[in-house]
This record gives sequence, structure tokens and C-alpha cells, in this order.
Amino acid sequence: MGVCMESIYGMTIHDLEEFLIKNNEKKYRASQIMDWLYVKRVDSFQKMSNLSKELINKLENSFSFDYIDILKKEEDVDTFKFLFKLEDGNLIEAVLMNHDYGNSLCVSSQVGCNMGCRFCESGRLKKVRGLTSGEMVSQILKIEKEINKRISHVVVMGIGEPFDNYDNLIKFIEIVNYNKGINLGSRHITVSTCGIVPKIYEFSKLPFQVNLAISLHAPNDEIRNKIMPINKAYPIKELMMAVDEYIRLTNRRVTFEYIMLDNVNDSIENAKELAHLLRGKNCYVNLIPYNETENISFKRAEKEQILKFYDILKKEKISVTIRREFGGKISAACGQLRAKEVR
Ligand code: SAH
Repeated sequence: MGVCMESIYGMTIHDLEEFLIKNNEKKYRASQIMDWLYVKRVDSFQKMSNLSKELINKLENSFSFDYIDILKKEEDVDTFKFLFKLEDGNLIEAVLMNHDYGNSLCVSSQVGCNMGCRFCESGRLKKVRGLTSGEMVSQILKIEKEINKRISHVVVMGIGEPFDNYDNLIKFIEIVNYNKGINLGSRHITVSTCGIVPKIYEFSKLPFQVNLAISLHAPNDEIRNKIMPINKAYPIKELMMAVDEYIRLTNRRVTFEYIMLDNVNDSIENAKELAHLLRGKNCYVNLIPYNETENISFKRAEKEQILKFYDILKKEKISVTIRREFGGKISAACGQLRAKEVR
């Protein structure tokens, strides 16, 4: 009792194979287990009827089936926000958005965050720990069960900095991408980072083609230093070199996220500077109307200003979209729901 067993949902196919070999079992059982977990979705080893009693015993003695629990659910047009309680009592969030192309789930990667972006609610609450791969996978499973539908896209853009929890992030991607399991295509998975440069290089070399989004939010170091402390460690020039390498190795288009903050980064000058910075890159810019939050004094840029900014990027031949607003009424900004619970 009291011994914390590893969650079965945190095991990649390779982890399972290794476990089986170590326990004198056949390697091919791994794909059968994955099938029970992610295709048939059973919730106990006892139900895995093509496994021997002995193997079921071994699995039961080594892994837990514990889900994370939904504590609260908020709803707005096309958006659902879930607050989860983890086994150790910590809280995290996930946001489900219905799009015309399917539904995407924004998952958390850490409890709290140490990146300290000035505008971000998650960053006000320091990191407690990274999520295990099982806790990340469970967010998807739990919500699919709740809504009785499959999730078509996953974005790692909830609470936390995924590249500050790199190994668990990669395991998570392997598990959801496994073709005889959840089978979410790598092109349907997006990881968003504030710009931890060495990890961008590592990420570029991965064998699977996952989308990368960069939280840029400023066209120069002067502004970025003020709102994102990470920029002092990895300034824009180094960030852009890493992004270029990612594009070169993967041939994939990078997304730059740009929160529109009133009088901080939303001037015509800033738009021109941004266009200059990104010229010639295989990328697109996602302009995000800032979600104001009660504990932080930044304001959302004026609508007019966002449109002007957009027009300039267009004119400069930079691909750009303005993010449709999701969940304005339900504290869907990163970390807001958790922040209300944790004081
Ligand atoms: N740490 C990662 C992923 C989590 S944040 C990253 O920085 O990318 C997900 C995105 O939401 C980031 O682009 C972040 O800057 C943005 N964000 C944070 N607070 C926000 C707010 N109040 N309104 C709009 N976007 C916000």
C-alpha cells in the first residue's frame, strides 16, 4: 500500500516490449495490450482476455490504471474547459475546441510553469512538477470518454512549457502517435514553445513530423526581453537560427504565435519589423487577441489595431491569420481556471 505504481498510460510500445522481454513474455503481447488500452479502451487488465492469467498478474503488480479526475467543466460556444485533479492533488487544465475540421484538445504539460512570461496566468504560479507521459495521455482519454467522440488534433499549449519536460513530452507523442493505438497522425499534433533553443534542435531531429509553434510575441529583443524572460537566455537571433534548422530538417512550416497586447507590441512599426524578421521563412503568423485576466494588467490590443497589423503582414507577403476567439467567457486563457482554484 502507498506505493505509487507507474501508470500503464505512460508506456510507449517500446517500453511495453522491454517490460515483456524482462518478464519472460512474448514481445508481440505489447501490441495486444496497446489494442486493449487504446482501441477497445478497457479499464482493467482482467478484461484483456487474450493474455495469460500470469501476464495479467505481472501487469497488475507493475502498473496502475488510474485515470486523472475531471473536477470541473466550463462551457462556452464550441469550447469546453476541463479542470483535472491529479493523483497527488495537483490541478491542471485542458481545453477542447470544436472546429470545422474536427475538434482539437489543448493539453497541459506541467503543473505550473517556470518561464515567467509576464502576460501569462500560468506563469504566476510556479512550476510544481512536469506531468508524466501517462498524465498527458490521460487528458485525451478522459475527455474522449466524457464527450463520447474522438479528438482529431492535439496541441500542447496548456499549462507549462513542454520543452521543459522534454522526455515525457516525447513519450507522450510516441504513445498518441502509435498507429495501432490512439493513432493520432503526427501532422495533427502541435507542440508550442516559448523558445528553449537547444530543445528545438533536438526536436528537429525526431523521426516523427510533429508541428512546431513558437510563442514569439515580439518583433525585437527589446520588447521580448520585457515580456518573456526566456529571451534573455535565448535571444531572437538564436531562436531564429534554431527555427531555420527545424524547417531545413523537417521541411515543415512553423507557426509563430503573436499575442496582440495594447501599446506593447501592436504598433505599425512592430508589424513592419515582424515582417522583416520573418521574410522568406516557411512560416505563418497567428495573431492572438490577448485574453485579459484579472491578475495581470496587460490589455488586449484594439480590434482596429489588430486588423491594421494583419494588413501590413499581408501586404508584406507574410502568411497570417487572426485566431478566432475561443472561450472568452470561460477563462480559457492558459492557466486561468487553475489560477482561480489555487491561491
Ligand atoms: N509554454 C508554451 C505553451 C503554453 S502557453 C508556450 O509558451 O508556447 C500557450 C500559448 O498561450 C502561448 O503562446 C502563450 O504565450 C499564450 N498565452 C498565455 N497567456 C495568454 C493570454 N492571456 N491570452 C492569450 N494567449 C495567452
